[in-house]
Amino acid sequence: MKDDNCIFCKIANGEIPSSTIYEDEDFRVILDLGPASRGHALILPKNHYQDVCALDDSVAAKALPLAAKIGAAMKKALGCSGFNVVQNNGRSAGQTVFHFHVHIIPRYDGGPEMVSWKPGEPTKEELSETAELIRNEL
Ligand code: 5GP
Ligand code: ZN
Repeated sequence: MKDDNCIFCKIANGEIPSSTIYEDEDFRVILDLGPASRGHALILPKNHYQDVCALDDSVAAKALPLAAKIGAAMKKALGCSGFNVVQNNGRSAGQTVFHFHVHIIPRYDGGPEMVSWKPGEPTKEELSETAELIRNEL
């Protein structure tokens, strides 16, 4: 369940040192080396999964509660007023390390704008056509 060529496998399993803020049998949570804000953390499963589609259901079920726990601790420890939970899948989505991970990004009042997009203006017909295309693949 580990990939010998994967840097996050090595970090998650302690073969490469990291600024660890939490560890249990399934996960290691570390500080990002290129943080979007002070405290930016990454939740890494100890086993290798390329992305959210490959993730084991039992690991997936634990990831979001862990993100909430880390975010709540950041609010107390760092004084951020909020945090983003971000998870990229695929190159086009900004994934650069192909070992599933969840970003927890502390947000500070008056801090820079991040994780935003310009809202589109689809018609009702476009929305229902798009919804049907996806529904048909579930
Ligand atoms: P992605 O773009 O794949 O969603 O996120 C990868 C993240 O991992 C980036 O924010 C990047 O700064 C971080 N990162 C890449 N290599 C390392 C590393 O060796 N150590 C740590 N702590 N973070 C890393
Ligand atoms: Zn890996």
